[in-house]
Amino acid sequence: RPRVLSGIQPTAGSFHLGNYLGAVRQWVALQEAHDAFYCVVDLHAITVEQDPKTLRQNTRVSAAQLLALGIDPDRATLFVQSHVPEHAQLGWVMQCMTGFGEASRMTQFKDKSARQEQSVGVGLFTYPILQAADILLYQAHYVPVGEDQRQHLELTRDLATRFNSRYGKTFRLPEAYIVKDTAKIFDLQDPTSKMSKSVPGGVVELLEDPKRSAKKIRSAVTDTGREIVFDVENKPGVSNLLSIYSALTDRTVESLVQDYDGKGYGDLKKDLGEVFTEWVTPVQERVKTYLDDVASLDKILARGAERAREVASGTLRRTYEKIGFVLPE
Ligand code: ATP
Ligand code: MG
Repeated sequence: RPRVLSGIQPTAGSFHLGNYLGAVRQWVALQEAHDAFYCVVDLHAITVEQDPKTLRQNTRVSAAQLLALGIDPDRATLFVQSHVPEHAQLGWVMQCMTGFGEASRMTQFKDKSARQEQSVGVGLFTYPILQAADILLYQAHYVPVGEDQRQHLELTRDLATRFNSRYGKTFRLPEAYIVKDTAKIFDLQDPTSKMSKSVPGGVVELLEDPKRSAKKIRSAVTDTGREIVFDVENKPGVSNLLSIYSALTDRTVESLVQDYDGKGYGDLKKDLGEVFTEWVTPVQERVKTYLDDVASLDKILARGAERAREVASGTLRRTYEKIGFVLPE
């Protein structure tokens, strides 16, 4: 079975709709026919300052959400990144393979560092390199992610290629698995930028009170005119709402546009608020159930880490050998 690997940060406790529609939904679908590895990337979370208690809580909340959204720990390998030390170890090797200029071209670093109020750490700069290590450790065929990760995946492929040509074939070149319709969910208050955990604004959080979400949806920025049509260029706000609606109901955008012919933005927003509430309510209940029994949750994660380490340690060992390290007996 083809291998897939993906990760999500525990930076904010709650995932948002972009995380679900752009990434986690694909994770759930892929676990059926793939050998899937999914991790909560706490090493990435500390690229910006985290409160220790909050980080610990958010890591469990993230794992609980993945389970509640449909990740099946008997089918997929679900784990916490820091439980598998090989990530940090291969991360160092990959840093030594990366050019400074190459790392400087990562646009997400430019965006995130520009927004940072505190001083910007080197970890935020090198985080795409650690991400490359995350993927290469598992020899993943596919990496299901949102559109914002495409450039990082290119870097991963470049590093794998470079390593392979310098030391001999070691890593598989992974491919991005990006589902076009939901590759980028936009902020409801600013439909030209992506919905993001680290940018407060029009972010629909899965764990907030659904009434609050419905209100955010009702007050989403829409566009001039009144017609409900899908036109990303001229009507980014309405188009974003239609994409979300379509994804949550498995109805096509065309059929929605037909249904809303003659109706107003207000109707669309009100209905979408209801659709979201109906979808998210049972998800929230399941999250709560997982968090009510932290011991069992931690056991699931320990089991996942053990399985992940079996694969990761093999790759790291082969890598160390190729580089010329004396392997410990
Ligand atoms: P941050 O702003 O802190 O980077 P984030 O919102 O981007 O947080 P991540 O944990 O970095 O969340 O990303 C998890 C997954 O969600 C990634 O695969 C990413 O591509 C995807 N994703 C994030 N935001 C969106 C979005 N707006 N639309 C579609 N996919 C998204
Ligand atoms: Mg991100």
